[in-house]
Amino acid sequence: MQNYIDGELKAPVSEKYFDNYDPSRGKVYSQIPQSGKDDVEQAYVAAKKAFPSWSNMPKEERSKILVRLSSLIEQNLDRLAEAESLDNGKPLWLAKKVDIPRAVANFQFFATAILHFASESHSMEDRGVNYTLREPIGVVGCISPWNLPLYLFSWKVAPALASGNTVVAKPSEITPMTAYLLSELCIEAGIPKGVFNIIHGTGPDVGAAIVEHPGIKAISFTGGTKTGEYIARTAAPMFKKLSLELGGKNPTIVFADCDFENTVNATATAAFSNQGQICLCGSRLFVQKDIYDQFKEAFVKRVQTLNVGPPMQDSSKIGAVVSKPHMEKVLSYIELAKEEGGSILTGGEQVKLDGEFSDGYYINPTVIEGLSFDCRTNQEEIFGPVVTIMPFETEEEVLMMANSTEYGLAASVWTENLKKAHRVARNLDSGIVWLNSWLVRDLRTPFGGVKNSGVGREGGFEALKFFTEAKNVCIQY
Ligand code: NAD
Repeated sequence: MQNYIDGELKAPVSEKYFDNYDPSRGKVYSQIPQSGKDDVEQAYVAAKKAFPSWSNMPKEERSKILVRLSSLIEQNLDRLAEAESLDNGKPLWLAKKVDIPRAVANFQFFATAILHFASESHSMEDRGVNYTLREPIGVVGCISPWNLPLYLFSWKVAPALASGNTVVAKPSEITPMTAYLLSELCIEAGIPKGVFNIIHGTGPDVGAAIVEHPGIKAISFTGGTKTGEYIARTAAPMFKKLSLELGGKNPTIVFADCDFENTVNATATAAFSNQGQICLCGSRLFVQKDIYDQFKEAFVKRVQTLNVGPPMQDSSKIGAVVSKPHMEKVLSYIELAKEEGGSILTGGEQVKLDGEFSDGYYINPTVIEGLSFDCRTNQEEIFGPVVTIMPFETEEEVLMMANSTEYGLAASVWTENLKKAHRVARNLDSGIVWLNSWLVRDLRTPFGGVKNSGVGREGGFEALKFFTEAKNVCIQY
């Protein structure tokens, strides 16, 4: 892989590279540029130079360029999905169905949203009028995680570019391949030189250099809460604009009056999609006592149908987790759960596949019961194919348990009682609530978390507002 700076693919200044792993085989398959401060500086200089012409370009033209990029991603869907699956370990069918189509949609959505983005005016009757200009910020930084690589990378970069900023971006060093392939498509799409720069490397080397750069005026970050805390601490004294999308420990609440069959299937999907490595996955399953035993049995049965296998096989519902350290972290949480008195209803161990996949990082989808809501297993983010199941009696009790963590990203509630559904949604400490559904997305809606799950909202005009500064202009008649 190479960096993408000033419209060209470039080796890192250090001329050094580090290993990139294929998690399905546990083998090195490519090399990542080991970039640092100097590469970020080059990208910044290019982005700063490109800013005046990009930000002054009529938005219709910017829009056309980004729509072209979206179409190129779509034309390369199969190739990009294969690359994503190989780099991340996720099932190929999932990358084809979700990850890459969403990257197409992100560019398409923001390229056209900018054409409809209007600003306010405030009349002061016969005294005068105010109008608000929404101006791009300048050079902005975008830093993304490994779980939905191109999907989340494009979710930030697209609104940043559409609103007229130039960008220095860093994908996760654990899954950088599709961002590299995107840089090739950017050249083909005719993105002007310097407008969009992609620097590969580690968080401490490249991410920190972006966050600490005094000329980069806004940071949009998605990743872990700990990293978010470092970014907030570092960027605050420079008064940078910050959007932080962080971790979660999401509750799934199942009432006795749910649509049983549908709820069993959908909550299993919510727990184990992408090997449980989606910030929105429901990892704490609360089930009302009246149906607890019946639900638990059906849920475990359903989970046991989720076949663990090589990501490129259509029959694999669960692929590999992203890396060896991550696999070890998830397995250590399963051990912790046992120490905390949990019993494993299904899964609970690493899976050894045959042949070329024997060194891959596979974990059986795991369901644990018998834990208290406030133990570490139920309070800390595991971010893997592990779900805990707990009974509850009343609405008050389940709200207390659901709201007991430091996180507040997403929740889902399952009941056929309309009033109860809305009441519970209102009382959950959560940025996003799904009623009788999970991960149904409309790109116009505000996306983000409360408490330690983040600051700010992405999505729709919220993202365009984040990537612009409001300037009020007042004239007295
Ligand atoms: P991470 O915080 O380790 O890394 C995220 C990105 O930050 C990577 O590109 C990494 O290189 C970079 N980074 C690391 N240290 C840095 C530093 N000191 N300065 C600047 N950048 C640095 O997170 P991860 O392990 O890649 O992703 C998993 C986490 O992301 C989970 O906690 C998950 O919940 C969260 N996540 C949140 C959302 C959301 O929308 N809220 C979405 C997806 C993932």
